Order: sequence, then structure tokens, then C-alpha cells
Amino acid sequence: MEEKRDFGDLKREVIEKGKCALCGGCVATCRMLDYGYLNVDFSEERPVIREGQQCPPDCGYCYYQCPRVEKPELREGLEEMYEVVSTDEEIRRGCQDGGAVTSLLAYALEDAIVEGCITVTDKGEWKPEVQVAMNKAGLIKGAGSKYTPAATLTGIADAILKYDLWSVALVGTPCVMSSYEKMFVVGRDTHNAHNFSSHVRLRIGLFCMGSYSYEKLMKGYLEHEHGIDISEVTKLQISEDVLHVYAGEKELLSTQINEVEDYKRDGCTVCEDFTGLFSDISVGNVGSPAGKSSVIIRTDFGKEIFEDALERGYIEAKPMDKSGVDLIHRLMKGKKEAGIAEKERRKKKLMEQMK
Ligand code: SF4
Ligand code: SF4
Ligand code: SF4
Repeated sequence: MEEKRDFGDLKREVIEKGKCALCGGCVATCRMLDYGYLNVDFSEERPVIREGQQCPPDCGYCYYQCPRVEKPELREGLEEMYEVVSTDEEIRRGCQDGGAVTSLLAYALEDAIVEGCITVTDKGEWKPEVQVAMNKAGLIKGAGSKYTPAATLTGIADAILKYDLWSVALVGTPCVMSSYEKMFVVGRDTHNAHNFSSHVRLRIGLFCMGSYSYEKLMKGYLEHEHGIDISEVTKLQISEDVLHVYAGEKELLSTQINEVEDYKRDGCTVCEDFTGLFSDISVGNVGSPAGKSSVIIRTDFGKEIFEDALERGYIEAKPMDKSGVDLIHRLMKGKKEAGIAEKERRKKKLMEQMK
């Protein structure tokens, strides 16, 4: 019988190998969650065990939960692509691109499909913080990509244990979606994962080319190198390989994305998923004209939500042009190949070191 793995193995095989996506899945799944054994150290950007704690000998939920230990299996699904814009002016003003994520969530909340939405907001100085939004104002507060890691899956524990919600929407990057899928698949024998996975009704994945170290990007690059007061930042946006930094309407900086490539987290360089293949609906800004969101429907449930939101007037949509579809497919392929190549490069390097 295979020896049971535990947090020590997760640390050795994933965290110290620079593979951790900081999705928060291991923290949410930890058997000792109620005692706060496992947490995210945001200054180090890694999961850590509280000093002096000993894990129960028969545990290891965190290890088996991690999508970097073993990827979840992808099931056959839909792939319908649309250009979408919110019909709500307040949402359009407060959001990135067409406001599709916020409008779909607003519909899901108002129609009582979910009671809360796990999203990421700015807790000051553009530090990401997971929140459970329960109304439109909360949704608008959490709109827009943050581009630094938030351990979003820890929000599932908050939604269920703190707010006592039965049904939630989860919004996150592709790694968060695949970690949630692991929770759903391997959760049958694990108390937290099992409970939590049955509460997530709707999964919205955000297109992602990478997340950046907060210390390196926000503090080092923007604050120290460019003299930007990061407490003023209200929006970060990456479009067409350019990073734009805004304070309200004012653009503080725009720079080619390769300028900040070195600040990308190590765990992102091995990532193969651009759009969030394990979502009900994926949303991003690539493939549609400015001011619109690109939406990919992936499951029957995602299609139902999308069509109902459309029918009830929350969004307007048209099928995406072939050029947009092709661009998204090219980027999906490119990211997959880059992730595989980086894994191969690391493996080769390790072999050479062992010679
Ligand atoms: S990838 Fe997610 S589950 Fe794996 S170690 Fe990192 S935070 Fe934990
Ligand atoms: S208690 Fe279990 S799930 Fe939590 S860190 Fe230790 S081995 Fe992992
Ligand atoms: S690049 Fe991958 S690992 Fe990094 S934040 Fe995006 S989805 Fe997660």
C-alpha cells in the first residue's frame, strides 16, 4: 500500500519546487482548519504550518487536494464563445471591460441561485483580499483583475463557516478552478473538501496569463522604481501585452508586459491553462473589442445561467467573431505549450544536477 503523504511532502514537492499557484485549496481543505494549522503567509506567498504544530499522523488532505500534485481530469464540455456587455451602466463604469462577470453574478444573486459570491477585492495599497459579496455594491468592489495572488479558495471556508451560506459562486483564475475541481473529485473522503464542494453552485474562471509577486510588482516596480503611490491605484489591466495602471480615470503608467516578466510567480510559469477549463463560464478581455467581455460557456449549467441573464436583460451578447475565437485558441495553445516546456526545462535541470 502506498505510504500516505502529508504537508511535508506538499512542501517538498510543490511549494519548495516553485510550483505552488497559491490557490488556497490546501488551506481550505486542511483537516485542522478550525484550529488554523495551515495558513497563507502573504509576505512569502506560500502556505505555511503554524509554528510548533504537529499534523495528525493519518492526515494528508492538503497533499491530495493540491492540483499541482496531480491535475484533475478534464471532462468533455461545451465551448460557446460570445462578446458580452453589461446593460447596467453602474456596473460598466465600475468594472473592467464589459462587466460580464459582475452582471452574471448580479443575476445569480438576485434570482437566488446563489447567496454569496467569492471574489477578490482591494484591501488597500492594491493588496488582494478574498471577500464574500452578497450584493451589487460588493460585486462592483471586487470587480477587475488584481494580478497578484489571493488564495481565493480560502473564501469557501469563509462563505460557509463564517456566513453560513448554502450556495455560492466562485470567481477565480484557472488554477483556482482546477483546485476546486480537485476538491469536488477527491473530496469524497475528506470532511472539508466534501462539505465545501457541495456548496459551490457556479464557477466563473478568469482568463489568466500569470500572476505577479506583490512585493516585486507593486512595491518594487511600481512604488520604488516608478514612484507610484500604490494607495492611489484603482485599476490594473493587462491588454494586448501592455500593463496599464490607473488611479481613477488617470493612467499612471503603461508598460510592455515583458518589462515585468521577472516578477511573475514561479508557480505561474508551469501553468498550462489560460481560460479556466474547469469553469462553468470563462471570462476575459482577449478576443472581443474594447469595452466588451469575452465569454466562453463550458457547461450546461453555465449555459443556463448565461441564457437566463440574457433573457432577463442583465447582459447583451453576440457570438464572437472568428478572429477572436482564433486568437483565444492560439493563446490557449501557447500557454499550454509554454507550461509543458517549463516543466521539461526544470526536469532536465534537476537531472543534470543529480549527475
Ligand atoms: S497550489 Fe494551491 S493547493 Fe497546492 S500548495 Fe499551492 S496553495 Fe496549496
Ligand atoms: S493537518 Fe492534515 S491537511 Fe492540515 S496541514 Fe497537516 S497534513 Fe495537511
Ligand atoms: S498563471 Fe496559472 S497558476 Fe498563475 S495565477 Fe494564472 S491560472 Fe493561476
